[in-house]
Amino acid sequence: MPRLPAPAPPGLAPSARRSFPAPAAMYTGLAMSCLFCKIVEGSIPSTAVYQDELCYAFADINPQAPVHVLIVPRRHIDSMTSAGESDKALLGHLLWAAAEIARAKGLARGYRAVLNTGPDGGQTVDHLHVHLLGGRPLTWPPG
Ligand code: AMP
Ligand code: ZN
Repeated sequence: MPRLPAPAPPGLAPSARRSFPAPAAMYTGLAMSCLFCKIVEGSIPSTAVYQDELCYAFADINPQAPVHVLIVPRRHIDSMTSAGESDKALLGHLLWAAAEIARAKGLARGYRAVLNTGPDGGQTVDHLHVHLLGGRPLTWPPG
């Protein structure tokens, strides 16, 4: 099973020294102004939790639970609404990464993986992301 890198200072995860596709070559137009594209690129700082060739995971700046990690695809996708059939493997990869991070964080009692989508779904950043929340009992239904 792949090992996760240890938590590291913003933008300095050990695996950051590995070679990943240059973000600037991966997005154009509207995505150039996207907050999470800038975090993936490293021009806006973040606290790295995990990364690989397809995704980047970092601590949410306004955590709603003791563990609150955002897992985003390196490639800009607005939301689940705009994910296409060719994105199926990537969507599965994001959930796999969430499970790996949960295991590494010791969330043996459980956790929640959430994809807020669109205005009614409460999405505020238009770059698809999985929220991984854990470390406390989570209530249901959500607001
Ligand atoms: P959503 O509302 O589902 O689109 O989630 C967006 C999430 O991004 C929120 O939980 C914010 O707290 C988080 N967020 C916004 N800006 C930053 C940032 N600069 N670094 C880390 N997380 C952020
Ligand atoms: Zn983006």
